[in-house]
Formats: sequence, C-alpha cells, structure tokens
Amino acid sequence: MTEPDPAFRAGVAFVDGGYVPIADARIPMLDLGFLRSDACQDTISIWKGRFFRLEDHLARFERSFTRLRMTCPYDRDRLRAIATECVRKTGLRDAYLQLIMTRGRMPIGSRDIRLAQNRFQAFCIPYVWIANADVRARGLDLHVSAIRRVPEQSVDPTVKHYHWLDFEMGLLEAYDRGADSVLLTDLEGNVAEGPGFNVFAVRDGELLTPQSGVLDGMTRTTVFDLAGELNMRARLAPLSPAALRSAQEVFICSTAGGIMPVRKVDDATIGDGAPGPTTRRLEQLYWRKREQGWLGTPIAYD
Ligand code: PLP
Repeated sequence: MTEPDPAFRAGVAFVDGGYVPIADARIPMLDLGFLRSDACQDTISIWKGRFFRLEDHLARFERSFTRLRMTCPYDRDRLRAIATECVRKTGLRDAYLQLIMTRGRMPIGSRDIRLAQNRFQAFCIPYVWIANADVRARGLDLHVSAIRRVPEQSVDPTVKHYHWLDFEMGLLEAYDRGADSVLLTDLEGNVAEGPGFNVFAVRDGELLTPQSGVLDGMTRTTVFDLAGELNMRARLAPLSPAALRSAQEVFICSTAGGIMPVRKVDDATIGDGAPGPTTRRLEQLYWRKREQGWLGTPIAYD
C-alpha cells in the first residue's frame, strides 16, 4: 500500500473544502461556533481500520445540526467520503474522527444569525482515551459535583454540542480532589453525565443509566446491545449520587475509550475496589467484537 504523507501522520483536518495537516487547521475568529459555542459535532472511533457504527453517527450528526437549524453544505454520501478521506490520509488504523458544524460568520455589522453561512469541518487524530491504560486497569476515581449539567430545558442534550464550561469547571474541581474525572448532576440532584461519557451503575443485577438530560451516547446504545447479548437486564432510570456510591459496580462509556470501570465515587469505594465481573465482561466483549469488525465499516486505505 502507499505510505501516508508524513505531514498527515499526526492528524488531518478538512477545512474550507480542503485537507490540511492538523497543526495548520484554523477556524475564523468571527465564526459563531467559536464566539458563542454555536456548533455541534459527532465523534466516531476507528479501530483496526474500521469505522464503528458509521451510519448511526452520521444520522446523529444530521439530527444534531438539523435541530440547531443549520444547513450542511454536504449530503450524507459526501460526509461519508470526507470522513473516509480524513482517515485514509493519516493512515491511522486506530483513530478518532470528529465532524463539526458551526453557525459560521454573519456579515460584519449584522446581528442576524440567519445570515450566517453554516460551515462544516472535520478532523482525524490518533485514537483518544478518556483514561490511560493504568487508570483503566485499576478503575477511575470520579467526583460527583454539585455543578448542574446545562439542563435540557436550556439546551437539547441530544444535540452533541460544545456547552462544556460546566464540565470544565467540574473537572478542575475533580482534579483538586485527586479524582480522575467528574460527573455532573441534573436540576433534581441526580447524576447526569461526565465530560465525554455516560455512566452506568450495576445494582441488584441490573444495569442502570440516567434517564434524561444526557446525550444518547453511541457507546451507551452499544452497552444495551451487549447487555442483550449477555442476557443482562439494562434500563434507563434516575440515578442519585447515593445510589451510585452504593452500587455493586460502576462504569463509564464513551467513543473515547469504550467501557471503563470506576473504582471510587467521591470517598466511596465501589465493590471491593477492583473492576467488577459485569464491567469486565462487557468491556472484554466490546473490544473482542470490535476487533472482529462488529458494526464496522472497513476503510480502503489504498
Ligand atoms: N455525554 C457527553 C456530554 C459526551 O460529550 C459524550 C461523548 O463525547 C458522551 C456522553 C458519550 O457519547 P458516545 O458514546 O457517543 O461517545
């Protein structure tokens, strides 16, 4: 096969209709995506040269920008082709691909966002893990913050958006406490989600994950699929911080790392402090099936 251009090995971006090395990719300063977080995205993982759930991700991306009343300059076929070309150019077998719509720029002097030309851009970089291998092996320590996740009454959580100041402040709070990451709560004080992940508790043999106010994560959907295969019961339910702390097992799930065990929630050790059997089974099945190309779309690198 042909070797990828070395300039693209660290990553590639698709901007203004062309491909550039990731370090050179720029967004215009007056783009409302930058100035107002008026943007949405979808992130797709590539493992062993295959996209995971590509069509599901493209459908969720289209849903996100349609709900934001944006128009993408490209149709589904062209988006698929750009996504493929981004990965192909890097030559990466294990990669992380983000598709992004921004509101774009208004004519100078105007405040009418309807006049903004919506923009599409994408990038592909080496695969991203929410936690490194050591932390994944022992389980993450999570801090539950009193910071409320931006409520669904304000911003539709099923739009994969960049309203992340709540997460960023929560993360800094978590780091101050020596934790690896954070979970934010909803207006009722129940657990919502973390920066880039959904959360599950295993209680009385059942998998429980927050019911509302969260992104319908692709990996969360995948956990339901795997649970079905393993004859495990799984459902959406309100999850209080106390219910999480007293669960037999807790895990998080994300495109950036799959299924990852949790060791502690605040000061409470989960189970005996080692990743539990349910989490391990799900995690192993997830990676085994991904290695085998489950729900995968192969990328033609040549
Ligand atoms: N929740 C939020 C806020 C996210 O940003 C993400 C992913 O980035 C997730 C959950 C997990 O979603 P997925 O499994 O589709 O990566």
